[in-house]
Amino acid sequence: MSIVTRFAPSPTGYLHLGHAFAALTAWRRARAAGGRFLLRIEDIDPARCRAEYAAAILEDLAWLGIDWDGPVRVQSAHLAEYRAALDGLAARGLVYPCFCTRAAIAREVAAAGAAPHGPDGAVLYPGTCRGLGAEERAERIAAGAAYALRLDMGRALAETGDGLWFEAEGHGAVACRPARFGDVVLGRKDVPASYHLCVTHDDAAQGVTLVTRGEDLLAATDLHRLLQALMGWPAPSYAHHRLLAGADGRRLAKRDGAMGVRALREAGLSAAAVRARAGCA
Ligand code: GLU
Repeated sequence: MSIVTRFAPSPTGYLHLGHAFAALTAWRRARAAGGRFLLRIEDIDPARCRAEYAAAILEDLAWLGIDWDGPVRVQSAHLAEYRAALDGLAARGLVYPCFCTRAAIAREVAAAGAAPHGPDGAVLYPGTCRGLGAEERAERIAAGAAYALRLDMGRALAETGDGLWFEAEGHGAVACRPARFGDVVLGRKDVPASYHLCVTHDDAAQGVTLVTRGEDLLAATDLHRLLQALMGWPAPSYAHHRLLAGADGRRLAKRDGAMGVRALREAGLSAAAVRARAGCA
């Protein structure tokens, strides 16, 4: 089977060298194996994503010498598909509406005197809305209350069992421990989608066989594997790569403007020089 890789940036800013490294890693893996390299714009967050950044990302990738196969998948154009996946999970009782605000969750966690966090740094949801009755849920929704859809982790694991694993280069078979994330949000209040749902849905929809991405997402792969098992989606292999650091030793982020692909190009560097700076000479 020929390999399919992808680069899936969120258009919340311009590409920096860390993105260039990630994109080149995925692109080279596909091209070296005679496989396909796909591009996906992960723009479900209407507050943070901008169309002009998405356009700039395509332009900067092309300038770097990266070509992609087939049309670019833009997540905001596929919200009906994510909603359908959520509807399916809801029909099976695997997600429930959560009416809590962030402030309410913070108050509840503080009152409990302990604030356990998931591997992504988010506070674990205390389960406030998990036990609401069907009638109360329906009443609050009919009254126009905003709600997110949370995964019922206990029920999900009861369906899949706890023997899930995924294949990650350099790690072998990694045993999943999704319970440490708690009842994560799969459908946000503002859009019927979430990073975890969309990334997993789309890797399956696009036939991705090898997911290359930063090692900051290694833990989240537990959740993605759980969703694959629940939805009957195939499990790709994973290769998590190191993250590039800025001059201060911290991982590169939007604040490192001087490390932007665009800024370096405007400063007169060639594409080859920028690829070399990204560690991909
Ligand atoms: N859109 C995510 C990001 O920009 C990447 C998701 C992934 O590669 O799984 O961080």
